[in-house]
Amino acid sequence: MRRPIVAGNWKMNKTSAEAVKLAEELKPLLADVKGVDIVLCPPFTSLEATYKTIRGANLLLGAQDMFWEESGAYTGEISAKMLLTSGCKYVILGHSERRTYFGETNQTVNKKLKAALRAGLVPIVCVGERREEREAGVTQQIVEDHVAGAFEGIRAEQASEVVIAYEPVWAIGTGLTATPEQAQQVHAFIRQILTKLYNSNVGQQVRIQYGGSIKPDNATALFSQPDIDGGLVGGASLTASSFAEIVKSV
Ligand code: PEP
Repeated sequence: MRRPIVAGNWKMNKTSAEAVKLAEELKPLLADVKGVDIVLCPPFTSLEATYKTIRGANLLLGAQDMFWEESGAYTGEISAKMLLTSGCKYVILGHSERRTYFGETNQTVNKKLKAALRAGLVPIVCVGERREEREAGVTQQIVEDHVAGAFEGIRAEQASEVVIAYEPVWAIGTGLTATPEQAQQVHAFIRQILTKLYNSNVGQQVRIQYGGSIKPDNATALFSQPDIDGGLVGGASLTASSFAEIVKSV
């Protein structure tokens, strides 16, 4: 039985004070929720303040990216150990915005995935096709490249710990959501890829979130698909009431 996971990707939003306020608002709204990993992913500058606010509550902390080296002359970068010691358990890797604006590739995602696992973070690896790729009928090829590229050289025991977020790029921040059937189809396909790369245990154990314009009114239909284990939520995670409603619908 896979434990559902819902994560809020706050992207480049919220100062520390605003992050603390949002986390404070979420605590009572989600206090009764059990059996779900609820992850807040604020910007780096708000990690520690958010962690202090949620420590002891049923909320976990995640970061939005990291670098693969442990330390050194990498101006502007953040290591896995820095994230761990700031209270993070999770880290998002390979988000489409990082692939689009910051040159992230399957190779860099793979390096980051290995470093995150080595350090003991739980990676959330984002995969998904662009609109023109879906229209060209190459969704499966793109998703397979993303998954196989990210997991290159990762052993089966480690692979089972990784969370995958299927995020069709055309659905991120656009208000367009994949239909539950479209999303389910790709999630099932990702399980097939993992089964081919490893074995059916890994295929069945890996948690796969859907991401792309999840809102309170479409979350239930998406989360009730058999291979969808929760969501990675952008815009709707910036408001306590809508994120709480989405978490509760899992
Ligand atoms: C995301 O950033 O991962 C995301 C899914 O954003 P949104 O929910 O705003 O589409």
